[in-house]
Amino acid sequence: MNTEFAHLIDGALVAGKQWFDVIDPATGQAFARAPLLSRPELDRAVASARRAFAGWRATPLVERRAAIGRMAQILTDNAATLAQLLTQEQGKPVGQARDEISRAASQSVGMAQIVIADELLEASAQRHIELKYFQLGVVGIITPWNAPINLAAGPLVAALYTGNTVILKPSPYTPLCTLKVAALLREVFPPGVLNVVAGPDELGEWMTAHPDIDKISFTGSVETGKKVMASCAGNLKRFTLELGGNDAAIVLDDVDPRAVAPKLFFAAFVNSGQVCMAIKRIYAHESIYEELCTALAEEATKARVGNGLDPGVQLGPIQNREQYEKVIDLLKDTAAQGARILAGGRVPEGPGYFFPPTVVADIDERSRLVQEEQFGPILPVLKFSNEEDALRRANDTRFGLSGSVWSADPTRAARLAARLEVGTAWVNQHRTTSATVPFGGAKESGMGRQYAALGLKGYMEPRVISVLKG
Ligand code: NAD
Repeated sequence: MNTEFAHLIDGALVAGKQWFDVIDPATGQAFARAPLLSRPELDRAVASARRAFAGWRATPLVERRAAIGRMAQILTDNAATLAQLLTQEQGKPVGQARDEISRAASQSVGMAQIVIADELLEASAQRHIELKYFQLGVVGIITPWNAPINLAAGPLVAALYTGNTVILKPSPYTPLCTLKVAALLREVFPPGVLNVVAGPDELGEWMTAHPDIDKISFTGSVETGKKVMASCAGNLKRFTLELGGNDAAIVLDDVDPRAVAPKLFFAAFVNSGQVCMAIKRIYAHESIYEELCTALAEEATKARVGNGLDPGVQLGPIQNREQYEKVIDLLKDTAAQGARILAGGRVPEGPGYFFPPTVVADIDERSRLVQEEQFGPILPVLKFSNEEDALRRANDTRFGLSGSVWSADPTRAARLAARLEVGTAWVNQHRTTSATVPFGGAKESGMGRQYAALGLKGYMEPRVISVLKG
């Protein structure tokens, strides 16, 4: 059992006084222990972040940018070993774990090129009015288990680059790679600027209620997001909420279903469907419906499912037992409704939380699989005959993360995409993000944005300086 992991508090690695097990989802067995933070230790971490804030906010932007650059380089230099660990705790194939780490590095560098300029609001004979952006203070970052490194890097860089200090808490299902990264970054930031701590959900609650944390960046489920928002009210903490989704892809009548199927399949099933912005419902025009369903089922049958550490594996296990049981339950409900299961649908015996990629046709719109966020490798494909109806059904949800429209005519598709009630509407693509494009949810899929200038401003307080002349 690997017990090498430690919190990073005030620039020092702090061993656990208590521990919790971390499970390898490919075996269902504990393979390591993570340290469990106590309440007094959280207070110590927050106090160190508060102390470090004065120095870090006064550090010139070029130096903060250089520190982010060093962080990105460390991620890149250690990508191979970090990817192995990420696969072991998260389950995704090791190539995709490596991609996640590379992406975290490149997004970090990209974000640290953005400049938040002062805005001149008035320069008249009477007044000179400027709007400037200042750092908030101590930022608490809470991350989920599906992409722990990439989803930490976005808010982490936004907070640190803009001059805040950080307490980062990964999910208790996947704490190890984040703790390992923290150990590697120990020398990069001055003591107290970056603190990384592990513990159960309760630790997240302590953070959102902590009187000396100024902002929470939360990525996770809608249900928890609402609790976080309520708890932040205690001291009117700022917050960014990146929550769940139920993304629809609308496939119009003019596409070649065979050509588009591999792209749709990947956008739905990568990381075994455990992606906030995965395609979670497909609405296909009736003229191409059967052919698209067949092509998607062929992709599902071809995909190699297995332990992410084995070469050639394309889809790893579901990350944890609770999620695995939830997806099995959705499958049972789907089968009981009489929907057509075109591929997958049979859960293998044996250790590990493996679930075959499952494609479902002719399913009732009101069924749980269509209405809920499945967050797993099971995809409903629904039929439509007119575009307005497809759009209405795609929008008929409290989720609003992202969505896409697929067509041989991008202009036609873009007109429809612009009417999706989401944070990001794509045409002929899905899941494309970048450091300079804001990302976040409409409706109950979130509040605020991550990335780009808009995202960085979420870690800053605007201040007006108004000078009366003469
Ligand atoms: P979750 O909400 O259960 O947990 C997320 C994090 O919150 C964990 O670190 C957890 O320990 C912590 N937490 C739990 N209860 C808390 C509380 N009461 N107060 C404070 N913190 C608390 O989510 P999950 O199951 O880890 O992640 C899956 C969900 O995340 C899915 O819904 C997915 O769509 C969503 N997600 C969203 C995005 C996005 O960018 N919009 C990205 C990835 C995942």
